[in-house]
Order: sequence, then C-alpha cells, then structure tokens
Amino acid sequence: MGARCHCGTEVQSTYDHLGCIECGAACCPACSCEIESANYCSNCAAALLDLPWAAALNPARHAAGIL
Ligand SMILES: [Zn+2]
Ligand SMILES: [Zn+2]
Repeated sequence: MGARCHCGTEVQSTYDHLGCIECGAACCPACSCEIESANYCSNCAAALLDLPWAAALNPARHAAGIL
C-alpha cells in the first residue's frame, strides 16, 4: 500500500510526512521540496520557487524545467 507520487514513484510510509502541506499531495523524496522546514509538492514548490530567493535555494530543480 502507499500513496503514489504524481511522478509515479510509490511513496514509502517512511515518507508520508513528506506530503505537501499546501495541497496534501503525496510526494516522493525526489519531488518534495523542503522550504523553510515545510514540505511542498513540486507544483506548490514551483509556485514558491518562482521567487528569486527560492530559485537560489534550489537551482538544480529550477533548471530542470519544472517551472
Ligand atoms: Zn502541493
Ligand atoms: Zn515524485
């Protein structure tokens, strides 16, 4: 059992806490983004990463074309 991340990765129960605090979506470690001690899914993180300071926080994800 276990939720499935939007990317298709099954989210281990260990990572349940990585669910997005914004929309509640299940997020695998690769897709979740911790911002200021809070976990967001890629969608919500993208919105936050649109901010200059957030882009600097995670340039690799920003450059991956997720936005
Ligand atoms: Zn979200
Ligand atoms: Zn994922």
